[in-house]
Amino acid sequence: MKTRPHQVLGGLLVAAVLATALTVGSASAQTSATAAPAAAPAATTTLPHWTYGGKEGPKHWGELGPADSACSHGSYQTPIDIRKATPAKLPKIRFNYVDDTVSEINNGHTIEAVAAEGDSITVGDEAFSLVQMHFHAPSEHTVNGKPYAAEFHLVHKTAEGKLAVIGVFIERGKKTNPAYDTFIAGSTLSNDATQSESIDWLSILPIDKTTYRYQGSLTTPPCSEGVSWFVMKNPVQLSAAQIKAITAAYSGNNRPLNPLNGRTVNLVRQK
Ligand SMILES: [Zn+2]
Repeated sequence: MKTRPHQVLGGLLVAAVLATALTVGSASAQTSATAAPAAAPAATTTLPHWTYGGKEGPKHWGELGPADSACSHGSYQTPIDIRKATPAKLPKIRFNYVDDTVSEINNGHTIEAVAAEGDSITVGDEAFSLVQMHFHAPSEHTVNGKPYAAEFHLVHKTAEGKLAVIGVFIERGKKTNPAYDTFIAGSTLSNDATQSESIDWLSILPIDKTTYRYQGSLTTPPCSEGVSWFVMKNPVQLSAAQIKAITAAYSGNNRPLNPLNGRTVNLVRQK
Protein backbone atom coordinates (compact mmCIF):
# COMPACT_ATOMS: atom_id res chain seq x y z
CA MET A 1 0.00 0.00 0.00
CA LYS A 2 0.98 3.54 -0.45
CA THR A 3 0.56 6.19 2.17
CA ARG A 4 2.63 8.63 4.12
CA PRO A 5 2.99 9.53 7.79
CA HIS A 6 1.12 12.80 7.52
CA GLN A 7 -1.84 10.91 6.09
CA VAL A 8 -1.78 8.52 9.00
CA LEU A 9 -1.87 11.40 11.45
CA GLY A 10 -4.13 13.69 9.50
CA GLY A 11 -7.42 12.10 10.43
CA LEU A 12 -9.35 15.31 10.01
CA LEU A 13 -7.99 16.37 6.66
CA VAL A 14 -10.58 16.81 3.97
CA ALA A 15 -10.07 14.83 0.82
CA ALA A 16 -9.04 17.84 -1.22
CA VAL A 17 -6.23 18.70 1.16
CA LEU A 18 -5.26 15.06 1.32
CA ALA A 19 -5.04 14.93 -2.44
CA THR A 20 -2.77 17.96 -2.41
CA ALA A 21 -0.61 16.46 0.32
CA LEU A 22 -0.35 13.20 -1.57
CA THR A 23 0.64 14.90 -4.77
CA VAL A 24 3.15 17.15 -3.07
CA GLY A 25 4.52 14.28 -1.02
CA SER A 26 5.15 12.12 -4.01
CA ALA A 27 6.62 15.00 -5.98
CA SER A 28 9.10 15.58 -3.18
CA ALA A 29 9.89 11.91 -3.03
CA GLN A 30 10.77 11.82 -6.67
CA THR A 31 12.62 15.01 -7.32
CA SER A 32 13.13 16.86 -4.03
CA ALA A 33 12.57 19.91 -6.22
CA THR A 34 9.00 20.75 -5.30
CA ALA A 35 8.57 22.93 -2.25
CA ALA A 36 5.66 21.97 -0.02
CA PRO A 37 3.10 24.77 0.27
CA ALA A 38 2.16 25.88 3.77
CA ALA A 39 -1.31 24.39 3.30
CA ALA A 40 0.02 20.84 3.15
CA PRO A 41 0.78 19.93 6.76
CA ALA A 42 3.89 17.87 7.36
CA ALA A 43 4.51 17.40 3.64
CA THR A 44 8.19 18.08 4.11
CA THR A 45 10.67 18.27 1.28
CA THR A 46 12.85 15.63 2.90
CA LEU A 47 10.80 12.51 2.14
CA PRO A 48 13.34 9.87 1.17
CA HIS A 49 13.50 8.48 -2.33
CA TRP A 50 12.79 4.77 -2.60
CA THR A 51 12.35 2.21 -5.35
CA TYR A 52 11.51 -1.47 -5.84
CA GLY A 53 15.05 -2.51 -6.75
CA GLY A 54 18.73 -1.70 -6.29
CA LYS A 55 20.27 0.49 -3.60
CA GLU A 56 16.96 2.11 -2.65
CA GLY A 57 14.98 -1.12 -2.94
CA PRO A 58 13.00 -3.04 -0.26
CA LYS A 59 16.12 -4.54 1.40
CA HIS A 60 17.31 -1.01 2.14
CA TRP A 61 14.03 0.73 3.03
CA GLY A 62 14.82 0.37 6.73
CA GLU A 63 17.98 2.44 6.21
CA LEU A 64 16.17 5.38 4.63
CA GLY A 65 15.82 7.07 8.02
CA PRO A 66 14.80 6.45 11.65
CA ALA A 67 11.10 6.69 10.75
CA ASP A 68 11.50 3.80 8.29
CA SER A 69 13.17 1.28 10.60
CA ALA A 70 10.02 -0.91 10.75
CA CYS A 71 10.77 -1.86 7.11
CA SER A 72 13.82 -3.80 8.38
CA HIS A 73 13.07 -4.44 12.05
CA GLY A 74 9.27 -4.78 12.19
CA SER A 75 7.82 -8.13 13.25
CA TYR A 76 4.36 -7.90 11.70
CA GLN A 77 5.03 -6.78 8.15
CA THR A 78 2.98 -6.98 4.94
CA PRO A 79 2.71 -8.64 2.43
CA ILE A 80 2.64 -12.32 3.44
CA ASP A 81 1.98 -15.62 1.74
CA ILE A 82 -1.53 -16.66 2.81
CA ARG A 83 -1.33 -20.39 3.42
CA LYS A 84 -3.29 -21.46 6.48
CA ALA A 85 -6.41 -19.41 7.25
CA THR A 86 -8.43 -20.19 10.35
CA PRO A 87 -12.21 -19.78 9.89
CA ALA A 88 -13.58 -17.25 12.38
CA LYS A 89 -16.88 -15.57 13.15
CA LEU A 90 -15.85 -11.92 13.21
CA PRO A 91 -17.94 -8.84 12.40
CA LYS A 92 -18.75 -8.44 8.72
CA ILE A 93 -17.53 -5.41 6.80
CA ARG A 94 -20.39 -2.95 6.29
CA PHE A 95 -19.88 -0.89 3.16
CA ASN A 96 -21.06 2.71 3.15
CA TYR A 97 -19.72 3.71 -0.22
CA VAL A 98 -21.74 6.67 -1.45
CA ASP A 99 -19.42 8.96 -3.36
CA ASP A 100 -17.98 8.14 -6.72
CA THR A 101 -15.87 11.17 -7.68
CA VAL A 102 -12.15 10.63 -7.40
CA SER A 103 -8.99 12.50 -8.23
CA GLU A 104 -6.59 10.15 -9.97
CA ILE A 105 -2.84 10.72 -9.82
CA ASN A 106 0.38 9.07 -10.92
CA ASN A 107 2.55 9.38 -7.80
CA GLY A 108 5.70 7.79 -9.17
CA HIS A 109 5.13 4.41 -7.47
CA THR A 110 1.61 3.57 -8.64
CA ILE A 111 -1.58 5.08 -10.02
CA GLU A 112 -3.81 6.21 -7.19
CA ALA A 113 -7.46 7.26 -7.05
CA VAL A 114 -8.05 9.64 -4.13
CA ALA A 115 -11.59 9.25 -2.78
CA ALA A 116 -13.89 12.16 -2.08
CA GLU A 117 -15.19 12.53 1.46
CA GLY A 118 -18.15 10.42 2.47
CA ASP A 119 -17.23 6.80 1.66
CA SER A 120 -16.55 4.49 4.58
CA ILE A 121 -16.64 0.97 5.95
CA THR A 122 -17.67 -0.16 9.42
CA VAL A 123 -16.24 -3.27 11.08
CA GLY A 124 -17.77 -3.96 14.48
CA ASP A 125 -17.92 -0.56 16.16
CA GLU A 126 -15.05 0.95 14.18
CA ALA A 127 -15.68 3.29 11.25
CA PHE A 128 -12.97 3.77 8.63
CA SER A 129 -13.16 6.44 5.91
CA LEU A 130 -12.03 5.49 2.42
CA VAL A 131 -8.91 7.49 1.55
CA GLN A 132 -7.58 6.13 -1.73
CA MET A 133 -7.15 3.14 -4.02
CA HIS A 134 -4.01 2.06 -5.90
CA PHE A 135 -2.53 -1.12 -7.33
CA HIS A 136 0.54 -3.32 -7.29
CA ALA A 137 1.50 -5.70 -10.12
CA PRO A 138 1.99 -8.58 -9.65
CA SER A 139 0.05 -8.96 -6.39
CA GLU A 140 1.84 -8.33 -3.09
CA HIS A 141 0.04 -11.07 -1.15
CA THR A 142 0.27 -14.59 -2.52
CA VAL A 143 -2.05 -17.51 -1.76
CA ASN A 144 -0.27 -20.85 -1.26
CA GLY A 145 2.72 -19.30 -2.96
CA LYS A 146 0.78 -18.15 -6.00
CA PRO A 147 0.77 -14.50 -7.02
CA TYR A 148 -2.10 -12.91 -8.94
CA ALA A 149 -1.63 -10.58 -11.92
CA ALA A 150 -2.27 -7.54 -9.73
CA GLU A 151 -3.68 -6.45 -6.39
CA PHE A 152 -5.68 -3.32 -5.67
CA HIS A 153 -5.57 -1.72 -2.22
CA LEU A 154 -8.45 0.34 -0.86
CA VAL A 155 -6.94 2.28 2.03
CA HIS A 156 -9.22 3.35 4.88
CA LYS A 157 -8.59 5.05 8.22
CA THR A 158 -10.39 6.00 11.40
CA ALA A 159 -10.58 9.57 12.70
CA GLU A 160 -7.71 8.60 15.04
CA GLY A 161 -5.58 7.51 12.09
CA LYS A 162 -5.87 3.72 12.48
CA LEU A 163 -5.59 2.08 9.08
CA ALA A 164 -7.55 -0.72 7.41
CA VAL A 165 -6.79 -1.89 3.88
CA ILE A 166 -8.99 -4.00 1.63
CA GLY A 167 -6.96 -6.01 -0.90
CA VAL A 168 -8.52 -7.16 -4.16
CA PHE A 169 -6.71 -9.75 -6.29
CA ILE A 170 -6.89 -9.38 -10.07
CA GLU A 171 -6.83 -12.32 -12.45
CA ARG A 172 -7.16 -12.46 -16.21
CA GLY A 173 -10.67 -13.05 -17.54
CA LYS A 174 -12.28 -13.07 -20.97
CA LYS A 175 -14.37 -9.93 -20.63
CA THR A 176 -13.67 -6.26 -20.09
CA ASN A 177 -14.62 -5.30 -16.54
CA PRO A 178 -16.49 -1.97 -16.86
CA ALA A 179 -16.10 -1.17 -13.14
CA TYR A 180 -12.37 -0.64 -13.65
CA ASP A 181 -12.61 1.31 -16.93
CA THR A 182 -12.43 4.81 -15.50
CA PHE A 183 -9.49 3.94 -13.25
CA ILE A 184 -7.67 2.33 -16.17
CA ALA A 185 -8.37 5.38 -18.34
CA GLY A 186 -6.25 7.32 -15.83
CA SER A 187 -3.39 4.82 -15.92
CA THR A 188 -1.75 6.69 -18.76
CA LEU A 189 -1.25 9.77 -16.59
CA SER A 190 2.31 11.05 -16.50
CA ASN A 191 4.13 11.51 -13.19
CA ASP A 192 2.30 13.83 -10.81
CA ALA A 193 -0.47 14.52 -13.34
CA THR A 194 -4.00 14.48 -11.92
CA GLN A 195 -7.41 13.99 -13.44
CA SER A 196 -10.96 13.63 -12.20
CA GLU A 197 -12.69 10.27 -12.62
CA SER A 198 -15.83 8.56 -11.48
CA ILE A 199 -15.63 5.22 -9.64
CA ASP A 200 -18.44 3.07 -8.28
CA TRP A 201 -16.50 1.65 -5.33
CA LEU A 202 -18.77 -1.31 -4.59
CA SER A 203 -18.43 -2.59 -8.13
CA ILE A 204 -14.62 -2.68 -7.70
CA LEU A 205 -15.08 -5.48 -5.15
CA PRO A 206 -15.91 -9.16 -5.80
CA ILE A 207 -19.52 -10.18 -5.16
CA ASP A 208 -18.53 -12.71 -2.46
CA LYS A 209 -16.81 -10.59 0.17
CA THR A 210 -15.16 -13.39 2.15
CA THR A 211 -11.89 -12.03 3.51
CA TYR A 212 -8.56 -13.17 4.86
CA ARG A 213 -7.87 -10.98 7.89
CA TYR A 214 -4.66 -10.34 9.78
CA GLN A 215 -2.62 -7.58 11.40
CA GLY A 216 0.16 -6.17 9.25
CA SER A 217 1.80 -3.03 7.99
CA LEU A 218 2.06 -0.55 5.17
CA THR A 219 3.85 -2.20 2.23
CA THR A 220 5.80 0.95 1.39
CA PRO A 221 8.08 3.09 3.59
CA PRO A 222 7.67 3.78 6.48
CA CYS A 223 6.18 0.21 6.73
CA SER A 224 4.23 1.25 9.87
CA GLU A 225 2.50 -1.59 11.71
CA GLY A 226 -0.97 -1.72 13.28
CA VAL A 227 -2.71 -1.97 9.90
CA SER A 228 -5.81 -4.22 9.73
CA TRP A 229 -5.75 -6.20 6.50
CA PHE A 230 -8.89 -7.47 4.78
CA VAL A 231 -7.80 -9.39 1.68
CA MET A 232 -10.69 -10.51 -0.50
CA LYS A 233 -10.44 -14.27 -1.04
CA ASN A 234 -12.13 -14.16 -4.43
CA PRO A 235 -10.29 -12.41 -7.24
CA VAL A 236 -11.88 -9.96 -9.67
CA GLN A 237 -11.37 -10.52 -13.37
CA LEU A 238 -10.02 -7.95 -15.81
CA SER A 239 -9.48 -8.53 -19.52
CA ALA A 240 -5.97 -9.10 -20.87
CA ALA A 241 -6.10 -5.61 -22.41
CA GLN A 242 -7.06 -4.04 -19.06
CA ILE A 243 -4.24 -5.83 -17.23
CA LYS A 244 -1.85 -4.78 -19.97
CA ALA A 245 -2.95 -1.15 -19.56
CA ILE A 246 -2.24 -1.02 -15.82
CA THR A 247 1.00 -3.00 -16.00
CA ALA A 248 2.19 -0.68 -18.77
CA ALA A 249 1.93 2.07 -16.16
CA TYR A 250 3.57 0.10 -13.32
CA SER A 251 4.81 -3.43 -12.88
CA GLY A 252 7.23 -4.85 -10.36
CA ASN A 253 5.86 -2.43 -7.74
CA ASN A 254 5.25 -5.25 -5.27
CA ARG A 255 7.14 -5.54 -1.98
CA PRO A 256 8.68 -9.00 -1.36
CA LEU A 257 6.97 -11.37 1.09
CA ASN A 258 7.55 -11.15 4.84
CA PRO A 259 7.49 -13.89 7.50
CA LEU A 260 4.25 -14.51 9.37
CA ASN A 261 6.08 -14.53 12.74
CA GLY A 262 3.30 -16.34 14.57
CA ARG A 263 0.42 -14.21 13.34
CA THR A 264 -2.98 -15.80 12.78
CA VAL A 265 -4.73 -15.31 9.47
CA ASN A 266 -8.49 -15.63 9.79
CA LEU A 267 -10.98 -16.50 7.10
CA VAL A 268 -14.27 -14.64 7.54
CA ARG A 269 -17.11 -15.68 5.28
CA GLN A 270 -19.30 -12.89 3.87
CA LYS A 271 -21.57 -13.38 0.91
ZN1 LIG B 1 -0.64 -0.91 -1.61
